[in-house]
Amino acid sequence: MQPVLQVSNLQVTYYTEGGRVRALDGVNLNLLPGEKLGLVGESGSGKSTMALAMMRMIKPPGRIEGGNVVVDGVDLTKLTDEEMREARLSRISYIPQGAMNSLNPVMRIGAQMGDAMKAHKAQFSATQIAERIDSALVSVGLKPSVAKMYPHELSGGMKQRVCIAIGILLKPKVIIADEPTSALDVVTQRQVMQTLDSVQKELGAAIILIGHDMGLMAQFVDKVAVMYTGRLMELSTVQDMFTNPLHPYAVALIKSLPNLHQRGVFHGIPGLAPALLRLPPGCSFHPRCPLAQDACKASVPPLELKGPNRFVACHLVNK
Ligand code: SF4
Repeated sequence: MQPVLQVSNLQVTYYTEGGRVRALDGVNLNLLPGEKLGLVGESGSGKSTMALAMMRMIKPPGRIEGGNVVVDGVDLTKLTDEEMREARLSRISYIPQGAMNSLNPVMRIGAQMGDAMKAHKAQFSATQIAERIDSALVSVGLKPSVAKMYPHELSGGMKQRVCIAIGILLKPKVIIADEPTSALDVVTQRQVMQTLDSVQKELGAAIILIGHDMGLMAQFVDKVAVMYTGRLMELSTVQDMFTNPLHPYAVALIKSLPNLHQRGVFHGIPGLAPALLRLPPGCSFHPRCPLAQDACKASVPPLELKGPNRFVACHLVNK
């Protein structure tokens, strides 16, 4: 099966007063239709930058400086601005962090959904827009009558489902959801995740779920990518990541999760992630890595295949 998403050597740089910040440093990944990838990492690791770069929504002083993002055979980095506007929502859609708070409080939901359709693909009749809004709302478990309501009449979970409905209006091949359940209670979190799961199955789209909640990832995704300082450190199946992580940073992340067998014992990761303006030489994790050796300071380990479906960026991990 052909990948529906191919990201290769994606690079994003911010030009700040303090200097040049490499926020995304040559990220590669592929997703098959229907696959679900969890993108995890500490704040500032580059997860949201990666999503914005794939959508070509990096704003100055940031710039995409290299790489390709191919969705269903079309390289988004080569499209004109107008073509890219059409590709958003129809090829690739992005449900940003806190999306539910971005709904316009003085517009009915249906009008906002209609605007989104017209903004990204102008050639719809009023009947087609109304039909698509109804079916998108039904797909996310809401009644079509929600289209006539204002955001303040909806609960947080319903608003988040409206945002997912907007994201699937034009049946994208790839959906990126950035922390879609933050600020929701656990019951609503589960409902929102089930909604994402069902729309993903309905559309056969690939999903990238960005977040910190490893428990949620374990239940929802097929593969997990761990990011650190703008680089992918490990990309493995969810099973391998939780039972046998290979990269020392992934090992530390998994170890830091609460454990039923060692209640009350927490294993933090020592130190802090380095500032992107002053990355250490070689492997950027070396100041915190318990296995670091001299070679780790000398060169950046590339992300390499280290087993079936396992990519790891570490000098010490062998095939
Ligand atoms: Fe640790 Fe070296 Fe591997 Fe980096 S390359 S994670 S410092 S062992």
